[in-house]
Amino acid sequence: MAEVRHVVVVGGGSAGWLTAAVLAAAHGAPGGAGLRITLLESPDIGPIGVGEGTWPTMRDTLRGIGVSETALFRECDAAFKQGSRFNGWVDGTPADHYHHPFVLPQGYTEANLAAAWLARHTDVPFADLVSFQPHLCAQGRAPKQAGTPEYAAVANYGYHFDAGKFGAMLRRHCTEHLGVRHLLDAVVGVDSHDNGDIAALRTKSQGEVAGDLFIDCTGMASLLLGAHYGVEIVQQRHVLFNDRALALQVPYAREDSPIATQTIATAQACGWVWDIGLPTRRGVGLVYSSAHTSDDAAEQVLLRHVRSTGGPEPVAVPRKLSFLPGYRRKFWHRNCVAIGLSAGFVEPLEASALALVELSAALLSDDMPATREAMDIVAQRFNDTFTYRWQRVVDFLKLHYALTRRRDTPYWRDHADPAHLPERLRGLLTLWRHRPPSRRDFDRAEELFPSASYQYVLYGMGFRPEPGAPAPREGHTDPADAYFREAAALTRRMLPALPGHRELIDHIQRHGMLRV
Ligand SMILES: Cc1cc2nc3c(=O)[nH]c(=O)nc-3n(C[C@H](O)[C@H](O)[C@H](O)COP(=O)(O)OP(=O)(O)OC[C@H]3O[C@@H](n4cnc5c(N)ncnc54)[C@H](O)[C@@H]3O)c2cc1C
Repeated sequence: MAEVRHVVVVGGGSAGWLTAAVLAAAHGAPGGAGLRITLLESPDIGPIGVGEGTWPTMRDTLRGIGVSETALFRECDAAFKQGSRFNGWVDGTPADHYHHPFVLPQGYTEANLAAAWLARHTDVPFADLVSFQPHLCAQGRAPKQAGTPEYAAVANYGYHFDAGKFGAMLRRHCTEHLGVRHLLDAVVGVDSHDNGDIAALRTKSQGEVAGDLFIDCTGMASLLLGAHYGVEIVQQRHVLFNDRALALQVPYAREDSPIATQTIATAQACGWVWDIGLPTRRGVGLVYSSAHTSDDAAEQVLLRHVRSTGGPEPVAVPRKLSFLPGYRRKFWHRNCVAIGLSAGFVEPLEASALALVELSAALLSDDMPATREAMDIVAQRFNDTFTYRWQRVVDFLKLHYALTRRRDTPYWRDHADPAHLPERLRGLLTLWRHRPPSRRDFDRAEELFPSASYQYVLYGMGFRPEPGAPAPREGHTDPADAYFREAAALTRRMLPALPGHRELIDHIQRHGMLRV
């Protein structure tokens, strides 16, 4: 029975190093008793260098692999992310905006908040009524206090960070603390066993690297799963039109300029701009559809946004990236698993890519097959789980577009056309005319987006169900009202108790955070 003893990760971007770290932390027992992990990366092809927004899941991932949160802030130019703010997606008027915070609505599982909001409180945006977090973001408050220990939160948070520095920190951690062997060499060929499994990778200058399981983290090249095995992309351009991006790093006007504590996603005629605040600079970029605009026109849109938000003049030349929106027909084939961009990519709205990397690495680690015989059984489960997850990403992202009332450009008119709706989302929108999204609509273990996220986006985008929610019986009060009051009370308590975002980051830089 062929045992799985040596795992070879190809690719040294965020996906490769995160996967190597998760596997080494769980399986790389000292003294050689566990799995051997080798990470092989080309010295000539750098990581993609974008991917600056994460989910709160990253806190568990980093804690699990033994990284100190203080080190993350000091080494990766990190800031706190408390969700996203969407500007101009509903109708494009100047005041048009809504929040998708990371904190669940107050009393989410206990009451029909949406019905009570619609019946009595539509003068307040849904997220602002049910959660204190949009108010923290609007006031630039940090999600924890100076004395809150590492990875603990007062308000749920993820990160914004410099992707290049993040990869470098993980590389140091993997090689210095987790026993990962690092080879700098380019893969130039694949040697196969008779059954079609990969036996070894041929490298440019260091000969063959043999292994039992190969993780393809080669980015969009998808060298093993895509190029070697020919597993094609199930493309999604008919649903999510964006296939290009322009990225820029923008300096702050002043050293002490406020740092936004949410990703700001501003709708444009042909796509949307992300604006991410790091302590030393902003990361700004336009994601757009090449079928709806030219690259030159897109560049002008991005530069206009930078100028209108206080960026410098002249602005640097943006970096251009192209991608085919979609995900692989399967992710694990024979003894090869694709994780990261090699598995798929569908635009950075809601920053799900690194979250999918974390989930892929975690499932691979939990289900690590002990033998080749066990591998196909695990592979089938992995493929089923991640096909489902990618489909939910596509649905959830489309929800942000499909309900728009914008009709100003073909881009928005096409997005509003029901012909471009995925089947399952179409069905859910029918159900949600009569009841809010609930956990029953998303009942798998570790759903990517909880039903609360659908509520935030659905009602933020102006979706209104049919009237008919039952009023509270006479003499009874609706429990939802108590939760609305609770959210308001938390807001009043937290605003003065939490430090400013930059203030807390400065404190962490100087004094670090408490370790537990
Ligand atoms: C515009 C844009 C914005 C994004 N924003 C976000 C975001 O906000 N949040 C988020 O979660 N994600 C985001 N992403 C996705 C995120 O950037 C990626 O998921 C993440 O960086 C992981 O990339 P990767 O490691 O898969 O690939 P890469 O970083 O491209 O790494 C590929 C690696 O493969 C190696 N390689 C390639 N060929 C060979 C070879 N022949 N031999 C050896 N090694 C080889 C390279 O050397 C490199 O180390 C964004 C993506 C884009 C395009």
